[in-house]
Amino acid sequence: MVPSAYVHIPFCDSICAYCDFVRIQKNEQFFSSWKEKLIQEIQEYKISNLHTLYFGGGTPSVLSLDDFASIRNCFPKDIDEFTVECNPESLDEEKLASYVSLGVNRISLGVQSFNDDLLKVCRRRHTSNQAKNVIRWIQESGIHNFSIDLIFGLPNQTMEDVKIDISTFLSLDIPHLSIYSLQIEENSIFGKTGVEPCDPDLEADMFEYITKTLEAAGYIHYEISSFCKPGYYSKHNLAYWQDKDFYGFGCGASGRLDGIRYDNTTSLKQYCLKGPCSTYIPEPLSERGMDAIMMALRTKFGLNIREWNLKYQNDFKNHYATVLDTYREYFCFEGECIYLNDAGLEILNTILVDFMMIE
Ligand code: SF4
Repeated sequence: MVPSAYVHIPFCDSICAYCDFVRIQKNEQFFSSWKEKLIQEIQEYKISNLHTLYFGGGTPSVLSLDDFASIRNCFPKDIDEFTVECNPESLDEEKLASYVSLGVNRISLGVQSFNDDLLKVCRRRHTSNQAKNVIRWIQESGIHNFSIDLIFGLPNQTMEDVKIDISTFLSLDIPHLSIYSLQIEENSIFGKTGVEPCDPDLEADMFEYITKTLEAAGYIHYEISSFCKPGYYSKHNLAYWQDKDFYGFGCGASGRLDGIRYDNTTSLKQYCLKGPCSTYIPEPLSERGMDAIMMALRTKFGLNIREWNLKYQNDFKNHYATVLDTYREYFCFEGECIYLNDAGLEILNTILVDFMMIE
């Protein structure tokens, strides 16, 4: 059984300055054929069992309730974790109540900052107060499991701004945080208008402050960008990090079946005319094994060496002996698992490059 499914909803009300995801301003011209093709694509798999379902985007909360329900109803009724990504300006109490009745039990809310000036710089359409209201509505809706996204390293953002964002987050009793440093993507508005990236030392100080403050407040830093209260891990994202298969549905989605990754077309026009036009990515077993290492070492759960050896027909400890020796102070072993300590997570990319250098 494939345990997880991701559905990509590529529409947004407007385009944020930092974003280069596959998204398009909501467009009536394409919408009905997009929906028809998406439903066809999902129904072809006749899914009768699913552990996690994730509607991401784009902005899934821009869908009308009827459209949302017709896509959701292509999946089984009982799903352990069903997450919907939402933006504050397109979520209200009525929509939340309908989501609950359709089995949604986790929300991921794109807050990005509680500072109105920075929200404007990012071209977000909501204000800090709107986000706080929506957080309260989520809490009142009975959805106890929810997450917000924040970004740090924004243009002219100071350490003081970050401290205010984190103390606001803590004051709102939110069980999960995903936090990202701003990346200036070439095809984003920031990239095209010459916005400079944050000073790397300041960015590192910000991340250290965030990590220490959240851990002191009882949050578990369980993945490089993810913090949660005990028990509030994102089960869906853990499926990616723990090397599981997942369906990817919709224009711009990616999936993995029988260990083989595939990408659907990113052209909305092509999707509406011909469906997903999936491209399968043939990777030798060794590359798939490397992918599994890269994902697993992002998390505090790390990599199960015995399972990896069996799956990828290799001997992890022998094969990567030089990397394990070079970075021995950063690796921890527990039972059959290897994981990185906090200092190791800070240099994760450097360590992964050395893993990749081994043939
Ligand atoms: S950041 Fe999210 S809401 Fe903003 S344009 Fe990108 S996908 Fe849409």
